[in-house]
Amino acid sequence: MSGTDDALYERLAAFVGRSAATAGTGKDPVNAAMIRHWCEAMGDAHPAYRGPDAVAPPTMLQAWTMGGLSGHTDRSPAHEELFGLLDGAGYTSVVATDCEQEYLRPLRPGQEIGFDTVIESVSERKTTKLGTGHFVTTRTDVRADGVLAGTHRFRILKYAPAARPPRKPERPSERAELTREPVREPVREQPPREPVREDPKPAPRRPRPVVNRDNAGFWEGVAAHRLLIQRCGDCATPRFPWLPGCADCGSREWEAVEASGAGTVFSYVVMHHPSFPAFDPPYAVGLIELAEGVRMVSDVVGVPYDKVRIGMPVRLEFLRVDEELELPVFRAGGED
Ligand code: ZN
Repeated sequence: MSGTDDALYERLAAFVGRSAATAGTGKDPVNAAMIRHWCEAMGDAHPAYRGPDAVAPPTMLQAWTMGGLSGHTDRSPAHEELFGLLDGAGYTSVVATDCEQEYLRPLRPGQEIGFDTVIESVSERKTTKLGTGHFVTTRTDVRADGVLAGTHRFRILKYAPAARPPRKPERPSERAELTREPVREPVREQPPREPVREDPKPAPRRPRPVVNRDNAGFWEGVAAHRLLIQRCGDCATPRFPWLPGCADCGSREWEAVEASGAGTVFSYVVMHHPSFPAFDPPYAVGLIELAEGVRMVSDVVGVPYDKVRIGMPVRLEFLRVDEELELPVFRAGGED
């Protein structure tokens, strides 16, 4: 480390042991409604979380301390000071890296939650794939009716993003989109770019689909450039992805029908992290609602990742990924 880094680390280390929240209180006591919502969201049907003797799922520990949209008003300034110092040193990005919890006793409806958070550690300067920065770990001790019930450790990395090679392909597409010209160079249709030309390694390949007897018909359709969905033979409910039975009526009779290829973006996420071989973040992953009423996860092409919008009309096309893989993807802009 240089002298400047040493001096910064010394200042950062002085925050260790300082309070990030003192005598915080849970906005609600432990309660059955929040437990039920949590279990429904997690798909956890364990009987210990229901009925008159219910306890809260241990992993809800942090949930009882969270401030919600309006936040907590009783935070100490040390956390903000520490983050300000890191921001000022150029470590302006943040990513949550992991959390650890310890459970000492079960939480039960009616208990009042109290908590204290301390800055437990600040790492020396580390360089990760994301960039260079410092890990900051906070520890929250959670009490139920005044008795320590568990501990929640939360670790983040405050970092300066690693320099990335300039991202050329988005620009022409973006311009084309803005001027409503046909988009000829979709963002993600090229094989993954290699960071340096001289790199002799072959480009990593996209993962292969798992083809089994339940979905083989779908992939046969893809090979023939037909997007096939299933329709129940009894109640006619369309379904996707391919399954052996109807979720509505239980029937195992079905027929394959070809989707028209028209759809809209029902929802989407933009992937920034983690990066997987063969994928080059950031990129958008769309949940496409087909005209037939079923939804499928797919690439949205022909538009920069940050221009994908809910409700955007899209149209099916088939993307040749490599010599053995073709995928249905959706081109923004509806009919070309
Ligand atoms: Zn049915």
